[in-house]
Amino acid sequence: MGYDSLFFNGRDDSRMVATALAEGRVILTRDTQIMKRRVVTRGQLKAVLIESDKPELQMRQVIDTLNLDCPFRPFTICLECNQPLLERSKEEVKDRVPPYVFKTQNQYMECPACHRIYWRGTHWQAMTKKLEKFIKG
Ligand SMILES: [Zn+2]
Repeated sequence: MGYDSLFFNGRDDSRMVATALAEGRVILTRDTQIMKRRVVTRGQLKAVLIESDKPELQMRQVIDTLNLDCPFRPFTICLECNQPLLERSKEEVKDRVPPYVFKTQNQYMECPACHRIYWRGTHWQAMTKKLEKFIKG
């Protein structure tokens, strides 16, 4: 969706909280223990307790609670490092993507930090469809 985000697997809450504080992030969690932490109850750290198991309802809650502005800018930042992606020509990525991809895709993006190459493959198409459906309600 184009929002800067990090994923924590839940083993180390303290590191997650410290990172969120240091970087001004909002915690999205299903863990009620996080909500009881003093930094959260005192309002130093913003956290949202996600209510639903369903991804669509989770997204709706986050968008409503944080007043996120639609439309989103999906697939504009790196999924790994949150850096804005840069457009690359087909020639520039020639030796860096699988031959099948090179044959079938014309638009490419590169992360300036990790140099991962992105293209509008099946994952992109499936996610775009899902997001569009979601935004239209
Ligand atoms: Zn990256």
